[in-house]
Amino acid sequence: MVWSTLAQHLLTKPRAPREAGHSTAAALAERLQNLSNEKLGRSLAIRHVDAGSCNGCELELRAIQNMVYDLTQYGLSFTPSPRHADVLLITGVAARNMAEALRQTRAAMPDPVFTIAVGDCAVDGGVFKGSPAITGGADSILTVDLMISGCPPTPGQIIDGLLSLIEAHTGGK
Ligand code: SF4
Repeated sequence: MVWSTLAQHLLTKPRAPREAGHSTAAALAERLQNLSNEKLGRSLAIRHVDAGSCNGCELELRAIQNMVYDLTQYGLSFTPSPRHADVLLITGVAARNMAEALRQTRAAMPDPVFTIAVGDCAVDGGVFKGSPAITGGADSILTVDLMISGCPPTPGQIIDGLLSLIEAHTGGK
């Protein structure tokens, strides 16, 4: 049953629409920088945890850091240390074997922390939904503030999601 479901999902077109050119993403990123400065008084630091990804979502996360999107110039950066991070960004299926690592990472982060599930796998298991090896989404392990669906979501969708999150916590602009 799991294999037939997996095959069905793999043969289905990706749900994420391809959109948001890099000029759109740059505009979003600039707003994000302004809002993160307003909310946090500084740049936004992100701790990313791969909780069982195929690496498709990671390619998009790398894309938002490349020379086209270049989000570092807007104050958006990834950090290897959870103690320096404001955002816990989770990709992958939230495998049972990663549950404790996710909990420990969250526990090491100083409040306030925004938790984001990026990609269909982190949202609800995606194409692997129903597998006994997964928990059924990041929110089955931690409280998740924002879910960004797509397989994988585009850089524009990821930036837009970060923007929405900050706007929601600042009451918009
Ligand atoms: S959502 Fe899609 S691209 Fe992202 S980890 Fe899952 S299968 Fe891979």
